Amino acid sequence: LSQKYLARQASSESNARSYPRWLPIAVERAQGPWIEDADGNVFLDALTGAGVLSLGHNHPVVAEAVRRQLDTFVHGLDLPTPAKAEFTERHLAMLPPGLRDRMRMHFCGPTGANGVEAAIKLCKIATGRSEVVSFQGAFHGSTAAAMALTGNTETKGKVGGALPGVHFFPFSSCARCPLGLRPETCETNCATYLERVLTDPNGGVTRPAAVIMEMVQGEGGVVPATAQFARQVREITRKLDIPLIVDEVQTGCGRTGTWFAFEQYGIEPDVVVASKALSGIGLPVSVLMYDQALDVWEPGAHIGTFRGNQLAFAAGVAALDVIREERVLENVRERGAQLAELLPALAGRHRWINDVRGLGLMWGIELADPDAGPDATSQTVTAMARAVQREALQRGLICEVGGRDDTVVRLLPPLNVTEEQIGFVVDILDRAFTEAAG
Ligand code: PMP
Repeated sequence: LSQKYLARQASSESNARSYPRWLPIAVERAQGPWIEDADGNVFLDALTGAGVLSLGHNHPVVAEAVRRQLDTFVHGLDLPTPAKAEFTERHLAMLPPGLRDRMRMHFCGPTGANGVEAAIKLCKIATGRSEVVSFQGAFHGSTAAAMALTGNTETKGKVGGALPGVHFFPFSSCARCPLGLRPETCETNCATYLERVLTDPNGGVTRPAAVIMEMVQGEGGVVPATAQFARQVREITRKLDIPLIVDEVQTGCGRTGTWFAFEQYGIEPDVVVASKALSGIGLPVSVLMYDQALDVWEPGAHIGTFRGNQLAFAAGVAALDVIREERVLENVRERGAQLAELLPALAGRHRWINDVRGLGLMWGIELADPDAGPDATSQTVTAMARAVQREALQRGLICEVGGRDDTVVRLLPPLNVTEEQIGFVVDILDRAFTEAAG
């Protein structure tokens, strides 16, 4: 049956469809961490709608809140409503104490990219400047400006320059140093380099309207910023009076073990973008939380029809209740610690695994050709990562492949995943790596 749906899709949908090419199943139903396909096969979902379903599929408490709201009303533009008031206040209250009184919320539309676009617009208007600094390997979305801020030149190259004045700097990954330096021999670091360029009259970059960064680059292959890099970027941006936007679209809402990942880095951003898991059940919503000192844009400065999804607001409030009552953040930290033990052990058993990295329940297993080393061309490595994904699917596990040239197997399980289910995930990966390596 799955094959039939895939064939129907191929004859009626765009060639740009992506997931069905690597995960060729038709989904019939889903509950908790489980997806059932049209043929009755059951999979553990360690992709969760690209990091959206923080409580798995259809959490009953959240689903009930959505049903209740559905009986009340659905669409509210940006007018105040009870569901929205509750959502806004409860979500602002999730910010750390120093920030929660300073920050305001803006509803940007349904998607993460909408939030990124709004963040850039806000900072440009507030500073009167136009350039933006982003980081190599970053991903911020696929609308024009969000894509322009994305480090992946493959996609961008095909549509030409989308937003002028974007400058890319190396992101804090010593293992991925663009100059090939090693931490033990590097006399400076990427953040110092950023500061020198921004303050050098010959540096070529005028003072930007914003610096935008992910605390853990997700699509870029699960690359966490180092603590020093994050702190230094914060210091530099503060010193030069540049708003720092932290894109928490993927890392936010508990994914890394704290509500926002920046909390673990001890920094305070000026603007936070959140989206994916805000509703906890996959209903689209995207917000900015930003320092009220930046709140100088005019009424209507960033509009959009779909900014008043009451179902998402009701779900987002119910999800916060569940997260507190079911101690979900503690679970993320415990299950994250479990993966931090199991995945290096997995790496020890499989030659194709070059590195494992992660924070909370966001993990990447980076592959490299064991006979050619990490700097070899990636075609065979990409093929191997896809083979692992395919073998895992056949054994009942849905996972993502991403990162540079799609060489990183990525895990984004639900945040309420159990110890046993994590064991199941790693067990399947173990067999998938064995099978894929032939
Ligand atoms: N920012 C980050 C960090 C993301 O991971 C993503 C989506 N993967 C986006 C922005 C874009 O979100 P959306 O696909 O909802 O536009």
